Amino acid sequence: MRHFPAFLDLAGRTALLLGQGETAERKAEPLARAGATLRRAPRFDPALLDGVAIAIGADAPEADLRALSEEAQRRGIPVNIVDRSELCTFVMPAIVDRDPVTVAISTGGAAPTLARMVRQRIEAVLPPRLGALAALAGRFQAAIRRALPDVAARRRFLDAALTGRAADLALAGREAEAEAGFTQALASHDVPRSGSVFLVGAGPGAADLLTLRALRLLGEADVIVHDRLVSDEVLDMARRDARRIFVGKARADHCVPQEEINALLVRLAREGNRVVRLKGGDPLVFGRGGEEAQALSDAGIACEIVPGITAALGCAAETGIPLTHRDAARMLTLATGHTREGRLDLDFAALARGGQTIAVYMGIATLPALRDGLVAAGLDASTPAAIVERGGTGHARTLAGTLASITLDAPGWMSGGPALVLIGEAVRLRAVVP
Ligand code: SAH
Repeated sequence: MRHFPAFLDLAGRTALLLGQGETAERKAEPLARAGATLRRAPRFDPALLDGVAIAIGADAPEADLRALSEEAQRRGIPVNIVDRSELCTFVMPAIVDRDPVTVAISTGGAAPTLARMVRQRIEAVLPPRLGALAALAGRFQAAIRRALPDVAARRRFLDAALTGRAADLALAGREAEAEAGFTQALASHDVPRSGSVFLVGAGPGAADLLTLRALRLLGEADVIVHDRLVSDEVLDMARRDARRIFVGKARADHCVPQEEINALLVRLAREGNRVVRLKGGDPLVFGRGGEEAQALSDAGIACEIVPGITAALGCAAETGIPLTHRDAARMLTLATGHTREGRLDLDFAALARGGQTIAVYMGIATLPALRDGLVAAGLDASTPAAIVERGGTGHARTLAGTLASITLDAPGWMSGGPALVLIGEAVRLRAVVP
C-alpha cells in the first residue's frame, strides 16, 4: 500500500487553499463540505500557515507552490500541490459522498483517471440514500449498545436490521417509518424476518437498460421469480446464489396461472425471503404488476415497485421511430392485442383518430383483426406502421410499411421474438440511426 488511508476531521479547523483558478475552486468545495474554515490567498506567505491543519495549492506561481510545500513540510502540516506528487505529503482521493458514509479511492497517484472510473462504479451500486440509513443506525448506536451488551448478539442484530424492512424504508426515503421499525426491533431485541417483494421492471432485454435500483435489488435478492420475457443477460446480473423460479407464460399456454404466481409470491415472502419479481419491460404496463401488488397488499406483505423501460420505449430508441412528434403525433396510446373472449376488446373509434401513435403489445397474432377494426373505424390502411421485433435488446429487427402491408407481411417475416406494432404518421419520421 503506497499510502495509509485516514479520514481527517476538519470541522472548525483552518485549511489553507493557495492559488486562484478552476482547480483551486474545485478543492474549496470538499473542504467546505467537511466543515473546514477556508483561508484563501493568491500568493504564498509563510504567515498563512499559522494555525493551519491542512494546506492545498493549485493555480499559483511555481515558486509559491514550492515554498508552500517546503514550509508546510517543515512545520509538519499535511500538504498537497495538485498534480505535483513530488511536492505532496498526502494525496486527494476520488470521493463517493453519502454523508456520513464516505468512500475514498486512491491509485497512489498513479492513475487519477482510473480512480474516477472506480468511483463511477461505486456510485452506481450504492443506494443514493445510504447516508440516511447510516445516520439512522448512528442515532440508535448507544441504545443498541445498552440493549445488547454482547458483541456477537449486537452484530447479529445489526446485520439483520441493516438489511431488513426498516432499512429498505430508510433507503426509500420513508424515514419516520424506518425509525419506528428500528425502535420496535430494538424493543423486542429481534428484527422480524418478514420478507418483502419487489416488483421490478427488467426493461426490454439489454442488461444495461436496467435501472440502478433494479440492479441493486437483483444483487440482494434471495429469490427471483421471472417470466419468459426476461433475458438471460438480465438474469446474469442477479446474485449468483439467488434461487430462480420461472413462471413464464407463453400465449395460449399459461404455464403458471396468475393466482398461483400471487400465492407463490406471498408464500416466499412469508418464509422471510427477499423476493424480486422480475418482469419484462415495466411491471405496470401489461405486466399484471397491479394484480400482484394488490394480492401482496391483501396478504399484508411489503411490496415495492421499480419501474423499467417498457417495450415501446426500447423499440423507439433502438429503431429511431419517434413516439410523439410535434407535427405528427401529440398522443401516445399503449394498447393490447390480447383478446378477451376471442375478440379484440378495443375502442377502435378512439384509436382511429389521427394525431397519435399507437403501440400495440401482444399484437402480432391478432394483427388482421386489428387492421380490420381500425379501417372500419376510419383509419386509412395506408397509415405508416412498423413491427419491431426484439426492440431494446441490441438485436432489433424492423418491418416498416403501412398498416396494410405489415399485416400481410408479418407471418413470413416474424422470427419468433417478442414484437411490438407501431402505427401512426410519426412512424414515417424515423431518424436514421447510424
Ligand atoms: N411489461 C412489458 C409488456 C409485457 S406484454 C413491457 O412493459 O414492455 C408482452 C408484449 O410486450 C409482447 O407480446 C410484445 O408485444 C411486447 N414486448 C416485450 N418485449 C419486447 C421487445 N423487446 N421488443 C418488442 N416488443 C416487446
